[in-house]
Amino acid sequence: MSLTQYNLSELSQKIKSQAVTAREVVSDYLKKSTADFTSKKSLGVYLTLASEQALSRADEIDEKIASGEEAGELAGVPIAVKDIIVTRGITTTAGSKILKNYVPPYSATVVEKLENAGAIVIGKTNCDEFAMGASGENSGFFPTHNPWDVLRVPGGSSSGSAAAVAAGFAPIALGTDTGGSIRQPAAFCGVVGLKPTYGRVSRFGIMAMTSSLDQVGPFTHTVADAALLLKIIAGFDEKDATSVKSVVPDYPSLLNKDIKKIKIGVPKEFFGEGLSADVKKVVEEAIDKLAELGAEIIPVSLPSMPYALAAYYILCPAEVSTNLARFDGLKYGESLREADLLSTLAKTRGELFGREVKRRIMLGTFVLSAGYYDAYYKSALAARQAIKNDFNRVFKEVDILATPTTPTTAFELGSKNQDPLAMYLADVYTVPVNIAGLPAISVPCGLSDGLPVGLQLIGNMWQEEKILKVAYNYEQATEWIKLTPEIKS
Ligand code: GLN
Repeated sequence: MSLTQYNLSELSQKIKSQAVTAREVVSDYLKKSTADFTSKKSLGVYLTLASEQALSRADEIDEKIASGEEAGELAGVPIAVKDIIVTRGITTTAGSKILKNYVPPYSATVVEKLENAGAIVIGKTNCDEFAMGASGENSGFFPTHNPWDVLRVPGGSSSGSAAAVAAGFAPIALGTDTGGSIRQPAAFCGVVGLKPTYGRVSRFGIMAMTSSLDQVGPFTHTVADAALLLKIIAGFDEKDATSVKSVVPDYPSLLNKDIKKIKIGVPKEFFGEGLSADVKKVVEEAIDKLAELGAEIIPVSLPSMPYALAAYYILCPAEVSTNLARFDGLKYGESLREADLLSTLAKTRGELFGREVKRRIMLGTFVLSAGYYDAYYKSALAARQAIKNDFNRVFKEVDILATPTTPTTAFELGSKNQDPLAMYLADVYTVPVNIAGLPAISVPCGLSDGLPVGLQLIGNMWQEEKILKVAYNYEQATEWIKLTPEIKS
């Protein structure tokens, strides 16, 4: 029987008790992943498989376990890592041709923490170029397909990480979420995706897209697995000035409490025009279930929500235009040399960046320019404050909020990639959370026409334990985590 059907907790139990070896587990996942990687009908999940490194790490872990040494909470568990997160000795491209041969000399803090806990990086997952996108189609290499329906997108930008967990190519994965890139693909692929509070997890070694919004988080099969991974990756890092010095709760031990009397706000702005009737129905049923479990459901309003997406698409490009300036054909990455400096710069950036990246660099340069700064960037900052104020006010009345993660289920490949505005709307319910720096989780809550739907639970800053507890109670009371896609390839 293949080991690739287990979740993190089950696998680590089996490895620690020596029922299986880390090598057996890693080999099983690599076998399945390699078969897909090399197939003509590949799901496009991985950009790089780190087979050799992973197997030799597995042997090290097996030796530790055999000699009775402490091998860590994740001893021998394979993990897939979004290719925007740097990994020492393993090619890291950010999904961009401009970094196609970059092999980092160091690892991100989150990767170090996971490896110290015994996890084994088995591969780097495909993503939209520099995390810009909501479908995986902006990858500079090839698109990822949704394991539930290969003609549909898996969501983005952490497309490969979500698909890897859904397809059983890795039991857990890491992604990044700037405006929804963990929660939206988690919803589309029927897995759990958690975006922590801004500052909870170190961004050191994460290639910056929008520095004031980016956070790293896990993709898992279960809420308990997400809680464990958050505990491991969270905490202050002196290498990241925006990571915050605060105590990291022992999340896994806080899950198993009931949710009676917990106040769950349902913001009406997340249930209006644009939400598909099917998704609405499934999410409303999930909220009814929470009420059955004893939660008090309270209608609330966040009037500034309609400004969130517009503000995001000013703030994000503005930061992109400065963050990506370093890829100039000289300092980092590939270089297409021409006779003079300016032509080298123009050719390198013009040919190696994709359309969406160039669009955002131009947009960002424009909104930051002297004549337009006040009209655009400053207004977006004002909207950001109004959004924060709205959430602050509502969290005085309720403990958490419940909303759909996305307005629709996974859409067809090619259906939105020529229309940036349509693509941007895929994140209408996730973006406000990043703008306010809040934690949020997407959990599977049912199917619509055979495709997964996600329930988004949003918490106040630093209160991940509340959303995890509610998500856990919901998951235990329903059957949705048992659903997995049938992969026909
Ligand atoms: N889809 C959004 C964008 O294109 C969010 C991306 C993200 O969270 N990295 O910017």
